Amino acid sequence: MPLPPQIESSSVGHCQSLGLYLSIPFCRSKCTYCNFASGVYPASHHDQYVERLVGDLRASGSQAAERGLHLPQTVDSIYFGGGTPVLLSSAHFHTIFRAIGEIFALTAEAEITVECAPGQLSDSTLDALVACGVNRVSLGAQSFIDRECATSGRLHTRADVLTDLKRLRTAGIENLNLDLLAGLAGQTIHSWRESIDILLQTGVPHASVYMLEIDEDSRLGRELLQGGARYYAGLVPSDETIADMYETAIELFSSAGLAQYEISNFARPGFASRHNLRYWCRAPYLGLGVDASSMLFAEENADEPTPASLRLTTTSSLDDYLAGITPLAEQSWLGPVQQMEEFWFLGLRRNSGVAVTDLMHLFGAEAAQPSLAVAHRLVAEGLLCFERHAERFTLSPRGRLLSNNVFAEFLAAYPDPATSL
Ligand code: SF4
Repeated sequence: MPLPPQIESSSVGHCQSLGLYLSIPFCRSKCTYCNFASGVYPASHHDQYVERLVGDLRASGSQAAERGLHLPQTVDSIYFGGGTPVLLSSAHFHTIFRAIGEIFALTAEAEITVECAPGQLSDSTLDALVACGVNRVSLGAQSFIDRECATSGRLHTRADVLTDLKRLRTAGIENLNLDLLAGLAGQTIHSWRESIDILLQTGVPHASVYMLEIDEDSRLGRELLQGGARYYAGLVPSDETIADMYETAIELFSSAGLAQYEISNFARPGFASRHNLRYWCRAPYLGLGVDASSMLFAEENADEPTPASLRLTTTSSLDDYLAGITPLAEQSWLGPVQQMEEFWFLGLRRNSGVAVTDLMHLFGAEAAQPSLAVAHRLVAEGLLCFERHAERFTLSPRGRLLSNNVFAEFLAAYPDPATSL
């Protein structure tokens, strides 16, 4: 599916279409490594949640207007993430899509993705997805080694993933993604290669590779930070092994025709995720539900050539969300300097990188100068590459492994980002 021109290049405030992200925080079990705002809740919560979600969809126009935000009315990507969205019933999906259709104009070629935990997609929900126009499914395989899934608290096997792929294709959904996670307990370079081999044999046109995050927000993360052994913490591979796994994935996917287009994402030509590209191109998106993020621009104003952008995140508490209490957890307005910093560190996540002409066009030559000086220094240090003919900066292979350090350099380029240029 080719990308519309406004998402092919980075944009600030110029994209007239919207992406919708709908968070569905329900899971059948909690994976040990999971640091998302998801949980195991009774199915009785689902009705109330969908009702709230639809209420938020209906209120989105007036809420945007109250904040002086431009909310495009044309939607060309929808993403149901979570959680495990397919735990919702077919009636829930019909209700949500009916509301979206009443509020927004959905383009004919819109990319509509639903995340799915293998083995948890009922026939009736699959029928509803197809009837509602879902044309992309992302399956959280994480590993094709059954014991690695079991030690992580996942409920599926290799056979479940393969069966689901077959069912989805039979239902007419060919745009399929498989997620793999490097760093599962018991994983080795050998087993990782086996998972990649099987993924390639399935012929899916898209793959995402994530590396285990160790933080206080997951049971396994807390155990590792405390030096404990629960959740098979002692079997978690070392950082060096996880980095080797990541590099192995890049090499094997690339030689099999799944080109890397972003730090964690690989696709055959024409299958890059349009919705996810919005995040890295700074195109507007509206996130609704628990722990959902939005990025919208202020209404155009002749006095402000670069409209301010607003980042919002909703509460991560399901109880608060359902009760309508403190629906907003965070919000911050970004001026031109902060947007330029984002432009760099989001743009560099993509293999197409940051084009100097886009930077100059959006922010002006004078304002861009300090960040360009940082970029040229990082080229000299081997962390960025500069393609002279295209005047484009990209992460080098070493920069990709140290990407957080690279991004921090751009944050330091402007000592007082709140100051307008
Ligand atoms: S299925 Fe996904 S969201 Fe749910 S607990 Fe596992 S990793 Fe977290």
